Amino acid sequence: MITLKEALTKTKEELAILREEIEAKAKASDLNAYIGFESSGEGVPILIKDNIQVQGWSITSASKILQGYIAPYEATVIKNLKSKGMMAFGRANMDEFAMGSTTESSFYGITKNPHDASRVPGGSSGGSAAAVAAGIAIAALGSDTGGSIRQPAAYCGVVGMKPTYGRVSRYGLSAYASSLDQIGPITQNVEDAAILYDAIKGHDPMDSTSADFDWEDIANTMNAERKLTIAVIDNYISEANEEIQIAYAQTLKALESAGHTIVHHTMQNTKYDIATYYILATAEAATNLARFDGVRYGRRAEAKTTEALFFNTRSEGFGEEVKRRILLGNFVLSSGFYEAYYVKAQKVRHLILDQFNAIFKTCDLILSPVAPSVAPKIGSVGDPLEMYKSDMYTIAINLAGLPAISLPVAKNSEGMPIGLQLIAKAFDEKTLFDGALSMEKVVNYQH
Ligand code: GLN
Repeated sequence: MITLKEALTKTKEELAILREEIEAKAKASDLNAYIGFESSGEGVPILIKDNIQVQGWSITSASKILQGYIAPYEATVIKNLKSKGMMAFGRANMDEFAMGSTTESSFYGITKNPHDASRVPGGSSGGSAAAVAAGIAIAALGSDTGGSIRQPAAYCGVVGMKPTYGRVSRYGLSAYASSLDQIGPITQNVEDAAILYDAIKGHDPMDSTSADFDWEDIANTMNAERKLTIAVIDNYISEANEEIQIAYAQTLKALESAGHTIVHHTMQNTKYDIATYYILATAEAATNLARFDGVRYGRRAEAKTTEALFFNTRSEGFGEEVKRRILLGNFVLSSGFYEAYYVKAQKVRHLILDQFNAIFKTCDLILSPVAPSVAPKIGSVGDPLEMYKSDMYTIAINLAGLPAISLPVAKNSEGMPIGLQLIAKAFDEKTLFDGALSMEKVVNYQH
């Protein structure tokens, strides 16, 4: 598949042919990465995760409860794409309401990993990552609340970038956990990620958490020659399996020989990251999902009373994982447990940010695994707690609001991609992309 950079040089006519080719190829594929083939506008086609609104398109967040719902307005990221020679094309499969790490909870069925159809593509932006990896999308948008861009990118051997919280407007993104959600690019290479990031970022008065400063473009000024100081969090690495640890050590060596300086740190109490994230994310999710009551959005169940309408719509419309999170979220917010769980988790969130800030006093970037293993087999992650644990490397970054980029560095003995992530200071996407471009060069990953 041609890159986003190349595609942006094509004429209108060439792009029209390219879109037809992509649609034909995607329809012939059995990955189940696309769940719709809507298109909107003119330009380079970008695949859109099914939780980002494109006006007039169906949008369901891969949930039965939103069946039949049509997006009444355009997400800001879609407007931004259109002003940069791109267009929304196709809806990507995902975990229901972006809650998951495997894309197995989609109402539309599972998406397969293009490197091994018996494995998951990761999640929740699994359709976006699988399509880019399989050459049936030039580039895609995903959303990342606790790793949902970076982890599927790592599992599928492509690049995935989560911007600093506040860099990209959330207007028109279905809210999962509003204080953690960010939209970001999934692409074939680092340069394309910068181009797509440049296109979607920017202040937006429609999102009250949108940052209002420093919007210079990055793609044209990226500098792979810049020498950076990169930190290793020593006690992070041992939690990953051996193959990941080997890939990590090799990458670190390659970065060092490219002239970067490596420094070592530890982080305290990382064992609380998962609990902190799952308390805060479920609390916010329970609140955000309260609006799906059968009255205002999507699918409505049969019922004789108003109470039965709410009850039946939510019982029939939400999948198992979403229900589990609504229950968890309401529990941690309930009066008896609010202080013990929700308030405490907010305090721990601050401690996590303080630790990142302390480490960033001595370095430009942190290098970390994205996941403790390669993509697991479909159906193998039965226990939800097992799944939550696999998010150990990605969630702290969302809790701290930092930007991070996942890129493929090696393949394991079974040919499955291994991704690592670089993490930068808040709003320092420039350094993040400089480092990523350098890393992409030195690891020389073979697709
Ligand atoms: N796997 C994490 C979760 O299930 C992250 C999901 C995401 O980033 N949307 O919450």
